[in-house]
Amino acid sequence: MHRNIANLVVHTDLNLLSVLQYAVEVLKVHHIIVCGHYGCGGVKASMTHHNLGIINKWLRNIKDVYRIHRDEIDILEDEEARVNKLVEFNIQEQVMNLAKTSIVQKAWKHEHIPHLHGWVYDLKDGIIKPICEIPAGTHIDPLYEFDDL
Ligand SMILES: [Zn+2]
Repeated sequence: MHRNIANLVVHTDLNLLSVLQYAVEVLKVHHIIVCGHYGCGGVKASMTHHNLGIINKWLRNIKDVYRIHRDEIDILEDEEARVNKLVEFNIQEQVMNLAKTSIVQKAWKHEHIPHLHGWVYDLKDGIIKPICEIPAGTHIDPLYEFDDL
Protein backbone atom coordinates (compact mmCIF):
# COMPACT_ATOMS: atom_id res chain seq x y z
CA MET A 1 0.00 0.00 0.00
CA HIS A 2 1.23 3.43 -0.97
CA ARG A 3 -0.73 6.56 -0.12
CA ASN A 4 -0.41 10.18 -1.15
CA ILE A 5 -2.49 13.31 -1.71
CA ALA A 6 -5.01 12.75 -4.53
CA ASN A 7 -3.70 9.27 -5.46
CA LEU A 8 -1.08 10.50 -7.92
CA VAL A 9 1.39 8.39 -9.86
CA VAL A 10 4.22 10.85 -10.50
CA HIS A 11 7.12 9.53 -12.54
CA THR A 12 9.75 11.25 -10.46
CA ASP A 13 8.31 10.11 -7.11
CA LEU A 14 11.07 7.82 -5.80
CA ASN A 15 8.92 6.69 -2.89
CA LEU A 16 6.13 5.52 -5.18
CA LEU A 17 8.51 3.98 -7.71
CA SER A 18 10.33 2.06 -4.97
CA VAL A 19 7.05 0.67 -3.64
CA LEU A 20 5.94 -0.17 -7.19
CA GLN A 21 9.17 -1.91 -8.11
CA TYR A 22 9.19 -3.95 -4.89
CA ALA A 23 5.54 -4.96 -5.31
CA VAL A 24 5.98 -5.93 -8.95
CA GLU A 25 9.45 -7.49 -9.03
CA VAL A 26 9.74 -9.05 -5.57
CA LEU A 27 6.18 -9.68 -4.36
CA LYS A 28 4.94 -10.26 -7.91
CA VAL A 29 1.52 -8.82 -7.22
CA HIS A 30 -1.14 -9.74 -9.77
CA HIS A 31 -3.22 -6.58 -9.37
CA ILE A 32 -2.47 -2.92 -8.74
CA ILE A 33 -5.36 -0.68 -7.73
CA VAL A 34 -5.37 3.10 -7.84
CA CYS A 35 -8.18 4.01 -5.47
CA GLY A 36 -9.37 7.59 -5.20
CA HIS A 37 -12.41 9.02 -3.45
CA TYR A 38 -15.23 11.41 -4.25
CA GLY A 39 -15.05 14.85 -2.67
CA CYS A 40 -11.25 14.68 -2.61
CA GLY A 41 -9.79 17.85 -1.05
CA GLY A 42 -6.64 17.57 -3.15
CA VAL A 43 -8.62 17.42 -6.38
CA LYS A 44 -10.91 20.22 -5.18
CA ALA A 45 -7.91 22.45 -4.36
CA SER A 46 -6.41 21.82 -7.81
CA MET A 47 -9.51 23.39 -9.36
CA THR A 48 -8.99 26.68 -7.53
CA HIS A 49 -6.47 29.47 -8.05
CA HIS A 50 -5.29 29.52 -4.44
CA ASN A 51 -1.55 29.70 -3.90
CA LEU A 52 -0.98 26.92 -1.37
CA GLY A 53 2.82 26.88 -1.39
CA ILE A 54 4.74 23.66 -1.92
CA ILE A 55 1.58 21.69 -2.65
CA ASN A 56 1.02 23.83 -5.79
CA LYS A 57 3.63 21.64 -7.44
CA TRP A 58 1.88 18.43 -6.46
CA LEU A 59 -1.56 19.70 -7.50
CA ARG A 60 -0.18 20.85 -10.85
CA ASN A 61 -0.38 17.22 -11.94
CA ILE A 62 -4.16 17.27 -11.43
CA LYS A 63 -4.51 20.60 -13.22
CA ASP A 64 -2.97 18.88 -16.26
CA VAL A 65 -5.70 16.21 -16.08
CA TYR A 66 -8.31 18.98 -15.79
CA ARG A 67 -6.90 20.71 -18.88
CA ILE A 68 -7.16 17.51 -20.95
CA HIS A 69 -10.80 16.90 -19.94
CA ARG A 70 -11.90 20.52 -19.40
CA ASP A 71 -14.86 20.36 -21.81
CA GLU A 72 -16.33 17.24 -20.19
CA ILE A 73 -15.96 18.73 -16.69
CA ASP A 74 -16.97 22.36 -17.20
CA ILE A 75 -20.23 21.31 -18.85
CA LEU A 76 -21.48 20.12 -15.43
CA GLU A 77 -23.46 22.74 -13.50
CA ASP A 78 -22.94 21.47 -9.97
CA GLU A 79 -19.56 22.12 -8.33
CA GLU A 80 -19.60 18.81 -6.47
CA ALA A 81 -20.31 17.01 -9.75
CA ARG A 82 -17.37 18.79 -11.41
CA VAL A 83 -15.00 17.80 -8.59
CA ASN A 84 -16.20 14.20 -8.72
CA LYS A 85 -15.82 14.06 -12.49
CA LEU A 86 -12.21 15.23 -12.15
CA VAL A 87 -11.72 12.67 -9.36
CA GLU A 88 -12.69 9.97 -11.88
CA PHE A 89 -10.58 11.36 -14.74
CA ASN A 90 -7.66 11.71 -12.36
CA ILE A 91 -7.87 8.05 -11.34
CA GLN A 92 -7.97 7.03 -14.99
CA GLU A 93 -4.90 9.15 -15.75
CA GLN A 94 -2.95 7.75 -12.80
CA VAL A 95 -3.68 4.17 -13.90
CA MET A 96 -2.33 5.20 -17.32
CA ASN A 97 0.76 6.58 -15.60
CA LEU A 98 1.37 3.15 -14.05
CA ALA A 99 1.18 1.58 -17.52
CA LYS A 100 3.74 4.09 -18.78
CA THR A 101 6.41 2.91 -16.33
CA SER A 102 9.15 0.55 -17.48
CA ILE A 103 8.54 -1.39 -14.24
CA VAL A 104 5.01 -2.36 -15.26
CA GLN A 105 5.83 -2.81 -18.95
CA LYS A 106 8.75 -5.12 -18.13
CA ALA A 107 6.53 -7.30 -15.91
CA TRP A 108 3.84 -7.35 -18.60
CA LYS A 109 6.37 -8.63 -21.12
CA HIS A 110 7.95 -11.33 -18.97
CA GLU A 111 5.25 -12.36 -16.46
CA HIS A 112 1.94 -11.18 -17.98
CA ILE A 113 1.12 -9.43 -14.72
CA PRO A 114 0.09 -7.11 -13.06
CA HIS A 115 -3.40 -6.05 -14.12
CA LEU A 116 -4.16 -2.41 -13.43
CA HIS A 117 -7.41 -1.10 -11.95
CA GLY A 118 -8.87 2.29 -11.16
CA TRP A 119 -11.44 2.48 -8.38
CA VAL A 120 -13.27 5.31 -6.70
CA TYR A 121 -14.48 5.11 -3.12
CA ASP A 122 -17.56 6.97 -1.95
CA LEU A 123 -17.17 7.89 1.73
CA LYS A 124 -20.90 8.64 1.94
CA ASP A 125 -22.08 5.07 1.30
CA GLY A 126 -18.88 3.01 1.47
CA ILE A 127 -19.34 1.75 -2.07
CA ILE A 128 -16.37 1.26 -4.38
CA LYS A 129 -16.99 1.88 -8.07
CA PRO A 130 -14.63 0.54 -10.74
CA ILE A 131 -13.58 3.32 -13.14
CA CYS A 132 -11.18 1.65 -15.55
CA GLU A 133 -9.02 -1.39 -16.13
CA ILE A 134 -5.84 -2.07 -18.09
CA PRO A 135 -5.16 -5.81 -18.41
CA ALA A 136 -1.51 -6.92 -18.50
CA GLY A 137 -0.05 -6.71 -21.98
CA THR A 138 -2.35 -3.97 -23.25
CA HIS A 139 -0.75 -1.89 -25.98
CA ILE A 140 -0.75 1.69 -24.81
CA ASP A 141 0.10 4.73 -26.94
CA PRO A 142 3.38 3.68 -28.68
CA LEU A 143 4.89 6.98 -27.62
CA TYR A 144 5.16 5.54 -24.10
CA GLU A 145 6.19 1.98 -24.98
CA PHE A 146 9.71 0.74 -24.26
CA ASP A 147 11.13 -1.87 -26.64
CA ASP A 148 14.23 -3.03 -24.74
CA LEU A 149 12.74 -4.44 -21.56
ZN1 LIG B 1 -8.42 13.00 -1.14
